[in-house]
Amino acid sequence: MADTKHKLHALFIPYPLQGHLIPAVHLAIKLASKGFTITFVNTQAIHHQISKAKSSSGSSNDNNDIFAHARQSGLDIRYMTVSDGLPVEFNRSLNHDQFMATLLHILSAHIDDLIRKITQEGPPIACMIADTFFVWPSTIAKKYGLINVSLWTEPALVFTLYYHMHLLRRHGHFACNDNREDIIDYIPGVAAIDPADLPSYLQDADISTVVHQIIFKAFAEAKDADYILCNTVYELEPETISALHIKKPFYAIGPTFPFNSSKSIVAMSLWPESDCTKWLDSKPAGSVLYISFGSYAPVRKKDLEEIAMGVLHSQVNFIWVLRPYIMSSDAEDPLPVGFMEECRERGIIVPWCCQMAVLSHPSVGGFLTHCGWNSILESVWCGVPMLCYPLLTDQFTNHKLVVDDWKIGIDIRRCNRSVTRNEVSAKIKALMATELGDDLRKEIKEVRRALENTLKPNGSSEKNIDLFIEDLKNKVCAQYGTATSTSSSFNTKPH
Ligand code: UDP
Repeated sequence: MADTKHKLHALFIPYPLQGHLIPAVHLAIKLASKGFTITFVNTQAIHHQISKAKSSSGSSNDNNDIFAHARQSGLDIRYMTVSDGLPVEFNRSLNHDQFMATLLHILSAHIDDLIRKITQEGPPIACMIADTFFVWPSTIAKKYGLINVSLWTEPALVFTLYYHMHLLRRHGHFACNDNREDIIDYIPGVAAIDPADLPSYLQDADISTVVHQIIFKAFAEAKDADYILCNTVYELEPETISALHIKKPFYAIGPTFPFNSSKSIVAMSLWPESDCTKWLDSKPAGSVLYISFGSYAPVRKKDLEEIAMGVLHSQVNFIWVLRPYIMSSDAEDPLPVGFMEECRERGIIVPWCCQMAVLSHPSVGGFLTHCGWNSILESVWCGVPMLCYPLLTDQFTNHKLVVDDWKIGIDIRRCNRSVTRNEVSAKIKALMATELGDDLRKEIKEVRRALENTLKPNGSSEKNIDLFIEDLKNKVCAQYGTATSTSSSFNTKPH
């Protein structure tokens, strides 16, 4: 075990959702590889779901510690769990608002209790790295005298739109739900954005929902964060990041995924992964459309039907991830009757897979995606152009980056519009079998190069992460009166 006496100890608390957990795990590994001691805290429910997924995939259970392998490879990552306030088996997908209300009102009490215990037992904590969507980081960090690092797992563009919600309110673009079409051109670092490309929660007319309460509180807290780490790349959003950096120490440190392997050493899938390799091996290069709507957003039955019929008519090979409760209900088969019989020769449906392994397989030629930010970064990394079908939250804004700014995908729909099977089928054919698809493939190679470069020793994300560590060390020294962060007096700070 590495010597912890001279190391920065970070308490790392990811949001208990798949798309937030994945980049958080990768970042924790990265920071540990740069010398941090990390205490990583999952909710008991997330831990339970990961363990269940692992044992149904037939993998061994690493003593209830998802970082056991990482530790064996020399990384100093400890692992703890905390209750989110609900029973572990409680179905959070089917009871979304109740789950969110617990994150809004209950989780902080359990986190507070956990930090109190950790600070009693040591090693002392220097900083807390917590997801920006939590509603308590600043309050808790102040209470325990911790440096507050906010982890933003979406693009900088989305961060700045939430951060400047007050400007949207002032100009009447907040909660305007389709009523305004004039361009938004007053957000610092954002040249222009269409109101329909705002995150859905900023467009909704009803702002009384539990998710809205979370967002309002979370961004009030985020304004007090000492540092913000963002899973993006400077070269992809330079103006936005530069403008944010004037207001806050904001570091673009993405993409966080392990770039030399499609498999992580840490288990973090919430559902058992189906292995699609053999099936993919049997298909010609570039012939398979990968379809996934991520882990969180529900899809309406009517939309699923139209997509399914569009896929059927397009005649392409496909792998479709249909996770449990994709329609926010426990209806058994969300697909039209007879769909699979008709497509048996050319498609498979899986409940979950290792997405990076699928996207990096040479048979995959396109990705029909809901535009989750991780999915976009992964698709770029694997050079797979996208068909965009945003559903909720940041996906509308991410979609604008992919289609309008970087030109590495085409949209099936903008915003919340319904689409027909004919439109779906025509767009799939355009992506998979026309020059347009080839142009997108060329373009995505360029964007991929930016991602590759950023992770090289002199690349921007690599430099930003080192800069963050340097700034953090200086702040620790200033805050706790030590000469350098590596001096042993680091351990004597007062908590
Ligand atoms: N994912 C996966 N297997 C699947 C579908 C998705 O491992 O079958 C992963 C995907 O690689 C990504 C994450 O789940 O890292 C989804 O995050 P994203 O931001 O794309 O969407 P969200 O689920 O947050 O809406």
